[in-house]
Amino acid sequence: MTEGTTAERTVTLAHLFPELLNLYADQGNVAVLRRRAQARGWTLRAVPVKLGSPMDFASADMVLLGGGSDREQQIVGRELAAYREDFAAAIEAGLPVLAVCGGYQLLGRYYELQSGERVAGLGLLDVATKADKGRLIGNIAIEWTSGEGAPDVRTIVGFENHAGRTYHDYAPLGRVLKGHGNNGRDHQEGLQYKGVVGTYIHGPLLPKNPHLADHLLARALAFKGCREPLCALDDALEWSAHHAVLEMLGVKS
Ligand code: GLN
Repeated sequence: MTEGTTAERTVTLAHLFPELLNLYADQGNVAVLRRRAQARGWTLRAVPVKLGSPMDFASADMVLLGGGSDREQQIVGRELAAYREDFAAAIEAGLPVLAVCGGYQLLGRYYELQSGERVAGLGLLDVATKADKGRLIGNIAIEWTSGEGAPDVRTIVGFENHAGRTYHDYAPLGRVLKGHGNNGRDHQEGLQYKGVVGTYIHGPLLPKNPHLADHLLARALAFKGCREPLCALDDALEWSAHHAVLEMLGVKS
């Protein structure tokens, strides 16, 4: 373990509205980040930001937004609107953000329901989502197209379930190998912009994708000003789960 006081070796994760944005075990992402931080001598301080409680983006080293139903998205969108400017500034400064499904849609301009009604997004990114007939459901595998620090294993696996079809011109998180991704049409999944990773992948995302968990953790530490390399961990179990999904989907690893 590296030396340093507990305060110095604490990484703060603002977990936005865990009581609402928590579909398909999204909370498991926090457990993975906590364990992988701890194994490197870091304490992950996960701060649940609940409805009505103040949000301080300046104290966060990383932000997590999970997925939610349309109704929950509407509630969260309204609540977060007050923090739009702070959130936008933090993103521009490189704050790492993991936004899953409903959380990913919320970063964009709107999510249009089939009725034509629009759930306002935060408009932090130029992303638009429209619901269409038939949900995009199932296991998914993508090829991660991250340039920076791209790991040897390039696949990311998980589960998706969304009515929304998302369109944007940013770099995607990856190319769909099996499954639907952003809209079921252009073979793109998710988004990467500065420190933001948006994705439709639940499951939760991080337990079966330890390389992505470390990528996010390293970014959170770098955002804090600490560029120490993360030592390798024994991820045999995680990789066997990852490969089991690839095998089930008939994707060669
Ligand atoms: N309500 C959104 C949709 O169905 C998001 C769902 C989710 O977070 N899984 O597109």
